[in-house]
Amino acid sequence: MTITFLGTAAAEGYPNAFCRCNNCERARALGGPSLRKRSAALINDDLLVDLGPDVVVAAHIHGRSLAGLRYCLQTHAHADHLDASHFLSRSPEYGVPDAPRLHWYASSATAQRAARLLEADFAPASLLDPEVGERLNLEIHRIEALQSLCIGRYHVTAFPANHDPAVEPLLYAIEADGRTLFYGTDTATLPEETWRAFRRHEQRFDVVILDHTYGPDEPGSDHLSAHQLIEHAARMREEGLLAADARVLATHLAHAGNPVHPELAEFAAGHGYEVAYDGLTV
Ligand SMILES: [Zn+2]
Ligand SMILES: [Zn+2]
Ligand SMILES: [Zn+2]
Repeated sequence: MTITFLGTAAAEGYPNAFCRCNNCERARALGGPSLRKRSAALINDDLLVDLGPDVVVAAHIHGRSLAGLRYCLQTHAHADHLDASHFLSRSPEYGVPDAPRLHWYASSATAQRAARLLEADFAPASLLDPEVGERLNLEIHRIEALQSLCIGRYHVTAFPANHDPAVEPLLYAIEADGRTLFYGTDTATLPEETWRAFRRHEQRFDVVILDHTYGPDEPGSDHLSAHQLIEHAARMREEGLLAADARVLATHLAHAGNPVHPELAEFAAGHGYEVAYDGLTV
């Protein structure tokens, strides 16, 4: 199983195109891994985590095609993770008659938010109606936290996040080829319910990807900070949730408190984790 990071920034992108702060100006000057698009990830070439606003440009820049996409796991419906116009772009009506059917997995609240975003396109019908799904070559699966399901050759379990309850956000463990990865953004400190579920499902992660919205000198709040990520990784190790050679990677980085990539990568290396960057394949 390979995972390619298509984006690793928080909601505003990094650099924030509208910002002249020191971090944003230095990121522009350095380029490369310091330039981050909004968070999304591609697993092999058929499973996308988040139909995010930057996945089209990410596919161009990083030489990845989304033409083979069959499955998408949606963490939640915040605008930095969901651009519902992609449902139209890949449909027969936009000149793509032969794409594989897309199976899109999301919580009920997130699916409803997606339908509202496309209300004007399908009224009086809805994105959630099977007839609209036929037109779009799309099947929507509404799932719940703590549900496990088989998606093609992937075994997936959804876990509750500590994030905006209005969109019922989900985090995902994805298992294939004897390896398991955990995709953990967006979330603040993981709920105890999630820790209990990790143990109940006997999870043993080879790769853990965690929210790192806030930097080394910031406290966490509605998202994780660097130090909270370090604490989460330590607890995972103590509880036997990590494989011996497990890799822990940070994603969803905001410009305000996270330094440019080389500096943050150095900090992370000193604390036993890595900083993902756009285009990185693990
Ligand atoms: Zn986000
Ligand atoms: Zn900035
Ligand atoms: Zn969010």
